[in-house]
Amino acid sequence: MSTRRVQALCLAGFSLLAGHAAAVEPAGAVLQPPAAVTTFDDGRAPIQQIFASYRPLLEQGWSLDVVYESQPAGTDVALPIIALRSPLQGPAIWLFTGIHGEEPAGPNAVASLVDDLAALGRERPVVLLPLCNPHGYARNWRYLNIPVYSETIEGSSVGDSSHLLPQPDQSDTARAAVASSPEAEALGRYVIEMSATYPPEVSIDLHEDNLIEKGYVYSQGERGAEDPLALAARQVLEQTGIPLEMNGRTRFDEEIVNGVIGPVTDSSIDELMSSRWIIVDGKVQAGPGARTVLVFETPAKNTTLNQRIEAHKALIRSQLAVTD
Ligand SMILES: [Zn+2]
Repeated sequence: MSTRRVQALCLAGFSLLAGHAAAVEPAGAVLQPPAAVTTFDDGRAPIQQIFASYRPLLEQGWSLDVVYESQPAGTDVALPIIALRSPLQGPAIWLFTGIHGEEPAGPNAVASLVDDLAALGRERPVVLLPLCNPHGYARNWRYLNIPVYSETIEGSSVGDSSHLLPQPDQSDTARAAVASSPEAEALGRYVIEMSATYPPEVSIDLHEDNLIEKGYVYSQGERGAEDPLALAARQVLEQTGIPLEMNGRTRFDEEIVNGVIGPVTDSSIDELMSSRWIIVDGKVQAGPGARTVLVFETPAKNTTLNQRIEAHKALIRSQLAVTD
């Protein structure tokens, strides 16, 4: 049994005690990153404040899982990649933010909507992975190994799922023999294991892009660009005044139709969430298979952080309302 599996069992202990005050303290301790960890200052909330914002969920019986203690090269302390699960189990909404550390709008929006998420969690199952790359958030690094996107150095993304996804032309072989980082391996395993009790119906992943002036929505699920939740999200972005690229191609040469991009093969955790079949330890097995998988890309170029946080808050609120 690997260290990560042991952590997975420890988190089960929290869930057994969930709802009891005794459980809040050990789990609550996870929500206190060392004060010495400083956060890149562009107006984003300090990482200590972000973690503390999740406490009300513990007080309302949510379970806290430590997916992995992340300490990339060049950092001094480990910071936990956490997941929070609602007391209700069953077909669930999954929400990811902070996969890319230089995209602070999503994590800041979630931190200010914890009460809304708690209310949603009383109605239906929710799995929240609110800060998937904690050191990336603190130091404004997109990846674990390099700060920004590079055409020459491969960025190691915590969301890389290439080791779990089949090759497009060879359905029984994974695209990569091993995970690109322990963080990516732990996140992938967590998604697969937790999909048994919280099978994803809807998966939402909040991103930004500081190289674009107009945003768009990826719709990775089976309805692709026709998914009504994708179209609703596009409307919300329009209403919040975020400029949208309605038609054309992304900087990765993907086709945009009415502000939405249909399923793409990008080896992301979003592709994993939508996959019906995956490869685990060399064997084909059923994947999470979420019907709706949305990835929001708001433009960070020429848009203030506050505007982007407000747009992400509106997106989260609208998706909670639409899917309720
Ligand atoms: Zn991103």
